[in-house]
This record gives sequence, structure tokens and C-alpha cells, in this order.
Amino acid sequence: MATVTGNSAAAVQKAGEILRSGGLVSFPTETVYGLGADATNGRAVARIFEAKKRPSFNPLIVHVPDEKAARQIAIFDERASILAATLWPGPLTLILPKAQNSGISDLVTAGLDTVAVRMPDHDLARAILKEAGVPIAAPSANPSGRVSPTAPGHVSDGLGAAVDLIVAGGRTSVGIESTILDLSGPRPRLLRPGAVLAADIESLIGPIDHGGSDAGDEGRPTAPGQLPSHYAPHAPVRLNAQSARPGEILITFGPDLRKGDGVINLSEKGDLLEAAANLFAALIAADRPGMSGIAVTEIPDQGIGLAINDRLRRAAAPRS
Ligand code: AMP
Ligand code: MG
Repeated sequence: MATVTGNSAAAVQKAGEILRSGGLVSFPTETVYGLGADATNGRAVARIFEAKKRPSFNPLIVHVPDEKAARQIAIFDERASILAATLWPGPLTLILPKAQNSGISDLVTAGLDTVAVRMPDHDLARAILKEAGVPIAAPSANPSGRVSPTAPGHVSDGLGAAVDLIVAGGRTSVGIESTILDLSGPRPRLLRPGAVLAADIESLIGPIDHGGSDAGDEGRPTAPGQLPSHYAPHAPVRLNAQSARPGEILITFGPDLRKGDGVINLSEKGDLLEAAANLFAALIAADRPGMSGIAVTEIPDQGIGLAINDRLRRAAAPRS
């Protein structure tokens, strides 16, 4: 891990290069320091969860340098257009339908067809995002369960060697996470309060529901009646399977002679990062109409395998 001060063109260029090549870069925003990775590269995104030791896959916020970049990954309606024109750049994250051909990894959206997007109000952050040239998924740059970092020293203390580069840019000014507003349904819903106040939003687009709370960094279950913040397969999921029963799709991991239609290998090499990157796409592909279920072989319960198994257990849990 290296730390560079952000006040030079060379630092911005280096950050952009590392991000484009699948590395992890911590950079300041006006809210907290983020841990960024190329949102179109599933393996790079998997490294975020590994570095933070996050025990579960929560959807991540995608950071963009300008509204044009946001419109390449998300579908804006009139409400979103008004809010972006008025409150961006700023600590407001919008949840919008994901654009076709957005290129965003399923691991970023936890398999959902919505995407969380924001434009930070921070010159250095936007310069890095512009230089990277790809949308950047970035949760807070702290180990899971610890407080969010507001200075570069917090990032190096917490994540150390797990991050390829820390771009130091002083203390962050807002210090708490962005407001999250869900605009994917007919009625806007506040999922997380933040520095952009609900009243500011309501003065622009009218009433919003306040009932929501987001799944949180550690994946607290969402309250009943909320929009699901995770993709869940329709077909029943059976864990630690040895083989598929008739009518089941088999999801497997590691060297496996079983191949072909009906078999999806998360990583033939037995690479857990690759498996994490492929997980949601595999669940979606396995969830075919007409099949009776999804059988999943054992996945090692270590490193990012913990988060993979957490997600699989949730998918296998009885539904109400
Ligand atoms: P963090 O990255 O720690 O700031 O947390 C981002 C939060 O945004 C997560 O806790 C998620 O619940 C929420 N989020 C991101 N994307 C979505 C989405 N597509 N739908 C619902 N919530 C989302
Ligand atoms: Mg966080």
C-alpha cells in the first residue's frame, strides 16, 4: 500500500491507472473516504468485500464524475433529473433503474436491476473518477463494523496492505454518509438520512416516504414491507449438495468434471474472488423457469467465501 498526496496531476493519474487495471484506491469525498474499484470489473469489486472483510454482499454506490456518466449507467426520470440538476454534486445517492448495457457488475447491485449512483462534491474525487474513465463502486474505506474514515490515516490504520493506493486529501468535510433516495418505484423513498435533508428533496419533487432504512454496512435485515435490497432466486436453493437431482441446476466451484447445460461453475480455478464476481449472475442464470431448483456444492467458508455462503444461505432460507 502506498499513500500519495492528492494535490498533483501525477497522483490523479496513478489513481486512475490502478482503478482501470482492477486495483483498489482509497480517495476522499465530501462525506467519508471511499474504497474504490472499477464497477464494471466483478473481480475488482470482489476485492472491496475482501479488503473490508464484509461478511455479506450489500449493493454498493457507484461514483461518477458528472451527470453524463451517471446517465450511461442509470435511467433518469424527471424527478431524478431535477434532483441531479439541483443537488449534484453533493451527498445525495439516487437509486434508479439500471441502464441496459450499463456494464455494471452484478456484484455491485447484488443482482438487482437498480443501481445506486452519486456525484461527489469533491474536486479531487471527481478528478480521479474522470481520469479512471469507468464508473467506480466505492463503499466507505473501513473494515466492516468499524466507523467510517474521515482522514487518510484512518484508512491506512484500518485497511493497510489491502488497498493498493491511498490518495490523501485531508479531512472530509461532511463526515457522514450520503443521503440515499430510492427513485426506482412510483413513490420516492428515503433509505438513509444524510447531509442532504429530506425537506430539501421534498421542496423539489414533492412528498417522499420516510419509512425505509437501508440494509446498512453489515447487512441488517430490512424491515418488512421494504423493497428487497437483494436479488433472491424464485427456485428453491439446496446447499452443500453433492450433485443435482432431476430438474435442478447445479452451481459448483473448483475443478469439476461436470460441465455443460445445467451446470454453472463459479470458478473452475477454485478462486474465491472470481466466484464472488460470478455469484449473482450464476444465481440469475440458474433461476430458469421450468426447473425445480438450484443445487449448490460446498464453497470454502473462508475469506470472501464467508460472504458467498452468507448470500447462499439467505437464498436457501425458507420464504414466507
Ligand atoms: P455504503 O456503500 O456503505 O455507503 O452503503 C451503501 C448502501 O446503499 C447499502 O447499504 C445499500 O443498502 C444501499 N444500496 C446501494 N445500492 C442499492 C440498490 N440498488 N437498492 C437498494 N439499496 C441500495
Ligand atoms: Mg460504510
